[in-house]
Amino acid sequence: MPNFAIGVDLGGTNLRIAAVDEQGCLLEKVTLGTRVTLGRERVISDMCEAIRHLSAKYHDRGTLLGTGIGVPGIIDIQTGMVRESPNLPGWSDSPVRAEIEKKLGTRVILENDANSAAFGEKWLGAARDVADMAMLTLGTGVGGGIVLGGRIWHGMNGMAGEFGHITVEPEGQLCGCGNRGCAEQYASATAVVRMAREAIANGEAPGLARAANSDAEFSAKAVYNLAIQGDEEARRIFRRVGRALGIVLATLVNTLNLPMYVVGGGVSSAWEAFSPTIFEELRSRCMVYAATAPADPLGAETGASAKVEPGTGRKTIITRALLGSDAGLYGAARLPMVNS
Ligand SMILES: [Zn+2]
Repeated sequence: MPNFAIGVDLGGTNLRIAAVDEQGCLLEKVTLGTRVTLGRERVISDMCEAIRHLSAKYHDRGTLLGTGIGVPGIIDIQTGMVRESPNLPGWSDSPVRAEIEKKLGTRVILENDANSAAFGEKWLGAARDVADMAMLTLGTGVGGGIVLGGRIWHGMNGMAGEFGHITVEPEGQLCGCGNRGCAEQYASATAVVRMAREAIANGEAPGLARAANSDAEFSAKAVYNLAIQGDEEARRIFRRVGRALGIVLATLVNTLNLPMYVVGGGVSSAWEAFSPTIFEELRSRCMVYAATAPADPLGAETGASAKVEPGTGRKTIITRALLGSDAGLYGAARLPMVNS
């Protein structure tokens, strides 16, 4: 009988808790709203209640190996402190791991949410057949994670992999991190909406203006819908997304020479609209990519082609994620299975 673990994906909007067994079977998933405005204490109580419920329900299915929690923000991996978390006001510089362990009475592993997503795609998703990979997560912001030899690469404090804050426009848009022109300002869902509103304000985007007027919650998805219908301004915005990602990936490929880079998160559903630009940028900017590109990068959708091809050597595969919004949940559940 396989043992199991609890994975938690703590988002600024949704709090999701799952029981997952060692073979990667999802036993049950609970989705709650993150009651951020009621404070950290309340959110942690909600989380612990759901964790206890799932632990008790599946305890005759095997041994509970522990709980892994993906948190949006900068985590100090040694101390279990959340250092910065823009989407969780009131959580910065707090001993979150200790608070949760005290309530549950068991060991808890905290991890950055993008690292968890990378670990999920490595375990069960697009990168399951490679030992080394990196992932970019395109959501409200842009997160990143690196897995080397099957383990998350943490760097000194657990803060490695902040690809969203790589500069892609030296004098560009001011970022919340203090830098200008971060990738996050051009490739996140927030950035897609901002660029659309800029184009509307410039009077150069009638299609986007109509969509924004008819939709109070004008989103990156609405911009994507216009792009696939052929709206030139919407398409231009996604080419800008692809350019930013191409510059980031060129930096990563030149630096790391990994077999696989995975692009996930909500905005990655617009893969068709931005990926051709990624590959154009990579071919023109990245020496290591030029030397290792597969013949048909857009067709290289699975990890299979990252393996040795007879006569051609290993290839650099850049592909979209497979697990959707569950990547972080699976990755978080995997943490206690490999960190015993
Ligand atoms: Zn930044």
